[in-house]
Amino acid sequence: MIRVEDLYKSFNGTPVLKGIDLTVQEGEVVCLIGSSGSGKSTLLRCLNFLEEKDSGVIEIGGERFEAGGKNINKLRQRVGMVFQHFHLFPHKTVLENVMEAPVHVMSIPKKEAVQEAEALLQKVGLQDKRDVYPASLSGGQQQRVAIARALAMKPEVMLFDEPTSALDPELVGEVLDTMKQLAKEGMTMIIVTHEMNFAREVADYTMLIHEGRIVESAPSKELFANPKEEPTKAFLSKIL
Ligand code: ADP
Ligand code: MG
Repeated sequence: MIRVEDLYKSFNGTPVLKGIDLTVQEGEVVCLIGSSGSGKSTLLRCLNFLEEKDSGVIEIGGERFEAGGKNINKLRQRVGMVFQHFHLFPHKTVLENVMEAPVHVMSIPKKEAVQEAEALLQKVGLQDKRDVYPASLSGGQQQRVAIARALAMKPEVMLFDEPTSALDPELVGEVLDTMKQLAKEGMTMIIVTHEMNFAREVADYTMLIHEGRIVESAPSKELFANPKEEPTKAFLSKIL
């Protein structure tokens, strides 16, 4: 579903991604872990072409994508992204937030978009919040709306960049539960997270990024029980 080969990206001459190779099969969940500044967000942003790669191959669903190519908007529909900060439209209701892209980007008839948005709100447990504005929701609820909004594009792949890092601790669980549910339903996901228990329990594979390279990639239980590379050991000993 996702194939990345020899991906390079630098900012102002400073290399940030230094030859990333990554494959994610359909229905797999991959967690990316690593220290701040190691390139995790840049990798996700390159996958969604929010950043333009310097070189390398990016394939989604067997299709190869290049910046400036006419299929980039199509790619963005196929790859949903959820950020640390939810970026909901403050002046739109919860339902309107979820309907926005289907109606305005995909030209889905409004009636159909309402029905789909209601179903997505039910999926994330917020059907009773459809008519309120984001400001009246908790951070965890806002993030679940952001997930529903990303799902409204019917993506084949979901990317999450530290989706629970901005939340109060008591709100983290409800967002992780929503993601766990998506994983169970077979969604292909790449998740940048510092929630190590979630990575161990939910992710098929966990990968450690260190200084712009994936230095270790293994089935999650194996990686946490028996890290092999020095940067992985150092990172886990700091965070666990
Ligand atoms: P992580 O998400 O792992 O914390 P990032 O991918 O955000 O790391 O950043 C990796 C490195 O790239 C950092 O040194 C960061 O300062 C730099 N960087 C990220 N985005 C930009 C940008 N738009 N311009 C310049 N430098 C950037
Ligand atoms: Mg980041």
